[in-house]
Amino acid sequence: MSPTKVMPARDRLRIAIQKSGRLAEPARTLLTACGLSWRESRDKLFCYGESSPVDLLLVRDDDIPGLIADGVCDLGIVGRNELEEQAGERRRAGLPELYHEWRGLGFGQCRLMLAIPEEWDWDGPAQLQDKRIATSYPAVLADWLDARNIDAHVVELSGSVEIAPKLGTADMICDLVSSGATLVANHLKPVETLLESEAVLAGPVREPDDIRASLAAMLLRRLDGVTALKDRKLLMFRAKNDYVAELERLLPDADPLTRLPSMEDEWVPFQTMCHGVITWQRLEELERAGAQGLMVLAVERTLA
Ligand code: ATP
Ligand code: ZN
Repeated sequence: MSPTKVMPARDRLRIAIQKSGRLAEPARTLLTACGLSWRESRDKLFCYGESSPVDLLLVRDDDIPGLIADGVCDLGIVGRNELEEQAGERRRAGLPELYHEWRGLGFGQCRLMLAIPEEWDWDGPAQLQDKRIATSYPAVLADWLDARNIDAHVVELSGSVEIAPKLGTADMICDLVSSGATLVANHLKPVETLLESEAVLAGPVREPDDIRASLAAMLLRRLDGVTALKDRKLLMFRAKNDYVAELERLLPDADPLTRLPSMEDEWVPFQTMCHGVITWQRLEELERAGAQGLMVLAVERTLA
């Protein structure tokens, strides 16, 4: 089925997400955390929004920018690498910009990196002159090479890029890296980062001027609420006022301590929002500095 034939309903928002793959499950989890729920169609390509008029279209990640460009979907969740590549292809072909990144979403992190055979020395980008570089991201790579005035041969491959040097079809590669294990297994070493990628919310450059604009605004506000809470914990404890300076020193990644109203004069209750991970070790340090009844609470949602 070609989803490009379906025209969007004007009173419902339609979001394209990956059907299966690395971004599929975290994208749905994030949208669920925004209070959305759906009924799935039998063909499992479309999910009808039940709690709000926000529907999902489940597609291949490569199709997402095009679906936004065609107006079939209003928004999409896709890797920055894919979005930048397709936007770069349009730019290089002299076509107008139709979609762009609205928000980084904090999952699906990886890097688009240049990797060379491990026995080579790396002297910097000038070394790439006249070399053959295999990649699935020819537009991003070409932009990067152009910016450095380097003339190299970009060998476009749709998959298994990492074996190109072994096969002799390229001298080196430009590919996505997360742990680096694939590079090591293929005797390659990363030398330059072209793009820091993560899943992003992509939207049209020209926003709709009907009810979908307010649905998108609602979604953005909730997304910001959810992503702002990542790694946030509410910390509560009792302490004497004299200990506050030392406790705050031990909490450099937390908001200033808030003193809670209490009938107690000596052991006063405090709370603060922490922005990093609170390990057992940190709790023990806080206890040694005089905090009592330490409690770490998960923060579920917030409206900024
Ligand atoms: P589809 O069937 O939807 O085309 P795909 O095989 O192109 O799937 P995945 O491998 O699921 O896609 O990757 C989707 C996205 O996950 C990538 O575009 C990238 O943004 C992100 N990602 C995170 N880590 C990695 C990694 N190690 N390798 C590849 N992609 C990664
Ligand atoms: Zn894909």
